[in-house]
Amino acid sequence: MRCAILSNLLLALTLTFAATIGVSGDPTVAAAREAANDLRERQALFQRMEAVTGVPWEYLAAADQWERSVQAVRRDLPKRDGLVALYIPPHVWAGPLNPNPSDTDPRTVAFFGGMGRDANGDGRADPNDPEDVAYAFARYLASYGLSDDDMRIALWEHYGSDRTVRRIEQFVRIIRAFGTLDLDEKAFPIPRGHHYTYTSTWGSARGWGGARIHEGTDIYAAYGTPVVSTCYGIVEVMGWNPYGGWRIGIRDLNNTYHYFAHLSAFQKGLRVGDIVKPGQRIGYVGSSGYGKPGTSGKFPPHLHFGLYKDNGRTEWSFDPYPHLKRWERESRAKGKGRR
Ligand SMILES: [Zn+2]
Repeated sequence: MRCAILSNLLLALTLTFAATIGVSGDPTVAAAREAANDLRERQALFQRMEAVTGVPWEYLAAADQWERSVQAVRRDLPKRDGLVALYIPPHVWAGPLNPNPSDTDPRTVAFFGGMGRDANGDGRADPNDPEDVAYAFARYLASYGLSDDDMRIALWEHYGSDRTVRRIEQFVRIIRAFGTLDLDEKAFPIPRGHHYTYTSTWGSARGWGGARIHEGTDIYAAYGTPVVSTCYGIVEVMGWNPYGGWRIGIRDLNNTYHYFAHLSAFQKGLRVGDIVKPGQRIGYVGSSGYGKPGTSGKFPPHLHFGLYKDNGRTEWSFDPYPHLKRWERESRAKGKGRR
């Protein structure tokens, strides 16, 4: 008898394991597939909420994505690494004057003006239930109206920060442009077929482009070599910077800022606010920088590439070298498949 239970348990474990690693047997492929499923499920949930409330699903997804990105890099916020990352504080969920901040009774929550809602009719307004949270947040936004301007006001009232509202609006534009949340693909900044060299120059005094320590990787290539976007994102900054010369900053959906400096020229027609995808041409390698606008030739031509993280309060750079290595490998593998 005990043996039968044990073998059943083993069978269940084997099945779970098989499901986890997937049919191909490659755990990374299976993990990628699982992540894609999560994204589809999340998108479907927000689209259901749009059908019920009229709030464009991209706003729900963008706010969720912003909270997810900030929770990942802040210690003072609870991590809600599930289907929905939106976090509504207890006193907001239950109502500011509700004597029971963990109240889940939809009637008393409504009485005290709490944001909490019961979406699935289980009689509970549960702040840990993805459907209840998505629905409650959508109903809150809808209470301000359904236009982009209404959304901006509702978001500002909830988050109390221009910076946060701006990020969420940027994310809305990225998600709208592609109609999906599956936007994690990356590309190496120099397209295939062009010669370049780079080594790990993080923090070194010999790098070009950092103000104090060298915040990035220098990729040496001939003057005029094309530079492409590394990510799906929105062009946040374009113009002159005393250290970086002609530079472009692109923000992706994980709230990472991709910085391209010392360009000789921008891609014609590219403008701040444009939505770009990995591999899309944005400019050309040069040696601009270290002086007044237009200064060039003070160092050999190269692309300075940096990555910056944003936690909603400050931004800081992190070493792009390992990421470049991975994107280079992935770009090469894709190129091979096409031949
Ligand atoms: Zn540099």
